[in-house]
Amino acid sequence: MTSEVLERFTLEPATGRAIPVQRGQVLCVEQVGEGQCLDFNAYNLHDYKEQFHSGRTRGLHGLSPAVGDHLWSAPPRERPMFTILRDDVGANDVNFSRCSAFLYESHYGFSDDVAHSNCHDAFSEAIREWELTPDDVHDSFNAFMTTRIENGRLRIDRSLARPGARLELLAQMDALAVTVCCGGDLGATNNYALKGLQIEIRAAAADDLSKLVDVTFRHQRKVEEFANAKIKADRELRRATDFRPHWPWKQAVESLTTIEVVMSPDEQAALERIASHPRYSHMSKSDVLRFALFQRLEARHRAGIVEALGRRQREQTP
Ligand SMILES: [Zn+2]
Repeated sequence: MTSEVLERFTLEPATGRAIPVQRGQVLCVEQVGEGQCLDFNAYNLHDYKEQFHSGRTRGLHGLSPAVGDHLWSAPPRERPMFTILRDDVGANDVNFSRCSAFLYESHYGFSDDVAHSNCHDAFSEAIREWELTPDDVHDSFNAFMTTRIENGRLRIDRSLARPGARLELLAQMDALAVTVCCGGDLGATNNYALKGLQIEIRAAAADDLSKLVDVTFRHQRKVEEFANAKIKADRELRRATDFRPHWPWKQAVESLTTIEVVMSPDEQAALERIASHPRYSHMSKSDVLRFALFQRLEARHRAGIVEALGRRQREQTP
């Protein structure tokens, strides 16, 4: 059963709009043409300083987040903001930053007074409705964007999205969702032609609500815990005269001790085998043992981490 559509509009090419989405509601994005990238920003609706973070999302879900993955907020909040419910194309990007007027000028020579259409300026204009500034735009979740790494460089391939292809994001918190049709027609991102996108906000259905997650850790920091929680209101930086640094883990770091490890002959032979690998040839036996031990520890924790963060189980390279 499809739930009620609360709002529906079509974004014109190279424009954007910022819309509130309440926890449990679903933001749906549909292709109206052949291959149009959606650049996406998100803010906590009740505290705009909590924002989507492509870096944490990339670290937890890999280079192309897919169904079941979350879009995370930045450290130190680190909470799921949205979850991908449906993804007809399966090509999303969290590697590239949003395109900007600077890029089109530096790469292609667009230096006229009116800049080439671009995502950063489109984000800026969309969030202006909510009193936010160009400095509040952050690295985007780039949906329907095909990217890969080749010889250590990021590459963009032709978009595979066809008309009618949908992406659906479940809001895990009340959020301001900023949807932008990427304004880049000089790269393969949008197949060299700018199109619009249809956007819908859907009321939560029972099935969607069952996918709301409660990811709670002691150290997902709240504003109340910040040593400085004041939002700076002017631009000049000044040193606080009463500043004294406080490193709460200092004692723990300094109290690390060396321990003696007693090994059986079998364990010693195993250590010799590992240490003979060229990768470890410059390391002492105790360093190799320490490294191997922690590698093992990491592997044992992996399954638990996947479950705790609601991540998709993936093939892991040992
Ligand atoms: Zn763009």
